[in-house]
Amino acid sequence: MEKYELQKLRDLPIEGVAERLGLRVSRHKCLCPFHDDHHASMSFKVSRNTFRCFVCGESGGPIDLVMKYLRKNFLDATKWLADENNIILQTSSHRPHPSALTPQSSFDASRYERFFERPWLNDEARRFLFDERRIDPRVVRWCRLTSWKDKQGVPWLQTPYYDCEGKLVGVQNRNLVKGALPRFRFPQGAECGIYNLPVLNLLKPGDELYITEGCSDCWAMLSAGHKAIAIPSATLLTKKDVEILSTLHSQLNLACIPTTTHLANGCSCN
Ligand SMILES: [Zn+2]
Repeated sequence: MEKYELQKLRDLPIEGVAERLGLRVSRHKCLCPFHDDHHASMSFKVSRNTFRCFVCGESGGPIDLVMKYLRKNFLDATKWLADENNIILQTSSHRPHPSALTPQSSFDASRYERFFERPWLNDEARRFLFDERRIDPRVVRWCRLTSWKDKQGVPWLQTPYYDCEGKLVGVQNRNLVKGALPRFRFPQGAECGIYNLPVLNLLKPGDELYITEGCSDCWAMLSAGHKAIAIPSATLLTKKDVEILSTLHSQLNLACIPTTTHLANGCSCN
């Protein structure tokens, strides 16, 4: 794992991580899960992004909290945190070969384009999209969602990312086995920033545009007849993505679904 990725995990707001774990944080305090606590002995220091229990002495940062609470080792805790926050961890198998001269090899769209020419959904993908998420089949076709199985027989949902001009810029693979980690995989160099950018070409003056977190919420909004794009998580947005969003913000009647991400980004929509 790269250093900067670890830093991303360490920078995840400690109170948010605690809440994801199911702890109830109020006024920077919560009941300590590591001893029989009745007085909210655990406190959070936002400035240092740490927790500490004044009774049992447990303390640390976001990764420590996950390790201790879920009884995971360091690596599994980082995977859990990354997955919960849609952060992509570069594993050694995804790292560019040292012989590659370019510092960051780019996404080879020609390798993937053909998968989306004739999208095909296996049983697991159908169950996920139609039974669990109740996605409209027309949305599935518009988004050109397809599926495949790897050598181990693991079913994956494959989601293409296009830019505003309809050029394939990235692919997201979602593991359809419940609870499997990592949940998401991305090919080398995939730019999976803002999702469903081609919809911007369909926007008419006065239209509302919804911004969701993650693809599945975006499909749900589209299924409900809205126009929507998705962002993966605030930390993943590139400079280019941020520019697109701020241009949209000034041009459109944006309807943000109020999530912590938007608030954290200083979005004035509510
Ligand atoms: Zn304690």
